[in-house]
Amino acid sequence: MSVLDSMRVPFLDLRAQFAGIQDEISAAIDAVLSSGQFVGGRYVAQFEEEFAKYTGARFTIGVSSGTAALELALKAEAIGPGDEVIVPANTFFATAEAVSNVGAKPVFADVNPTVFHLDISAVEAVLTPRTRAIIPVHLFGRAMDLSEIELLANERNLVLIEDAAQAHGAESGGRKVGASGRLTCFSCYPGKNLGAYGDAGMITTNDEDLAKRLRLLRDHGSPAKYQHTIIGTNSRLDALQAAVLSVKLRYLDQWNAKRREHAQSYQRLLKHSTIFLPQVPAGSEHVFHLFVIRVSARDQVRQSLANAGIETGIHYPVPLHLTRAYQDFTYPGRGTFPTAETLADEILSLPMFPELTEQQISRVAEVLLRSTENVDPVAPGVEYRKGSAKTASAYAD
Ligand SMILES: *Cc1c(COP(=O)(O)O)cnc(C)c1O
Repeated sequence: MSVLDSMRVPFLDLRAQFAGIQDEISAAIDAVLSSGQFVGGRYVAQFEEEFAKYTGARFTIGVSSGTAALELALKAEAIGPGDEVIVPANTFFATAEAVSNVGAKPVFADVNPTVFHLDISAVEAVLTPRTRAIIPVHLFGRAMDLSEIELLANERNLVLIEDAAQAHGAESGGRKVGASGRLTCFSCYPGKNLGAYGDAGMITTNDEDLAKRLRLLRDHGSPAKYQHTIIGTNSRLDALQAAVLSVKLRYLDQWNAKRREHAQSYQRLLKHSTIFLPQVPAGSEHVFHLFVIRVSARDQVRQSLANAGIETGIHYPVPLHLTRAYQDFTYPGRGTFPTAETLADEILSLPMFPELTEQQISRVAEVLLRSTENVDPVAPGVEYRKGSAKTASAYAD
């Protein structure tokens, strides 16, 4: 057995990242502890200012998680009971859950088979007079091209709320995700590209009224102690997490650059294979929160990798319309969203984090090439066809 054969490759290693910034983190945490200010205060304000500057947005509102960010954004736009909000069928559960939690109805739409983002014709197919908003997701760290969806939203007077939980630092057309001016929601769950040491999140916007409303909503509708002008909740960002994020934000570009380097290595090593690799358009700064391939016999390939000590993930194994939580009221069953369902069977997320080594990447590629030698290539992207999914009437109550 060679040395390589015994090399374990984790999917994610947060300890490796911490080792490089330990002193700065400890100093930042000490400063917050000495300040005695744990909720609100200058560390939160400072991080909000820094992140606004980083993205190019006018305002950043720190909140307690990415899920809270989505819920507050929906509430700030007064979306609630009776409203429908279109979300992709393949995303993390929270995108739809937030819609349900404000009393509105998530309506799923199929995704594009090559870039995995919401498909515009699929969105058009599920529009109804009750549609109030669309939540495009910048999935896996690739900034979604929003030009078509923007046109549609303008035409129909729909709200767009961006889910950028996986896309800190991603760019499209030279502009950072978060700089569009509309409500853009970020998560700082520890494994995200900009991760806290606990739960955290934020919303960026250029709209001063929305920013004000969000600050009230996250803090009991309270502009000053014991004054309550609207009904909000407690979804504040901790000072400790804010201080951690201020340190980590200084490294974000460098960490994202590492992720891109690793992605290029994977692309180079896996080029001549049956594997469908992530598509990266020119002019898009993909930040590879996840490096997601498509492969036939996925479960078998995944097992071979696991046997070789290589951890992988599936994002996500069950399209949202097939999760148990959403079986009761949206009812569409298997066959409703063919692309999302096909992807769920073929996608595989390879180890991806800044501290990954070239040796580890070579090892992953070597085992992958060996285990996919005899599997068929996946069917090339079958683009969504009009009429291939259930249309709006399928969602009638
Ligand atoms: C992580 C994530 C969320 C939720 O963020 P939390 O901070 O975990 O609440 C929402 N949407 C997407 C796409 C995510 O990846």
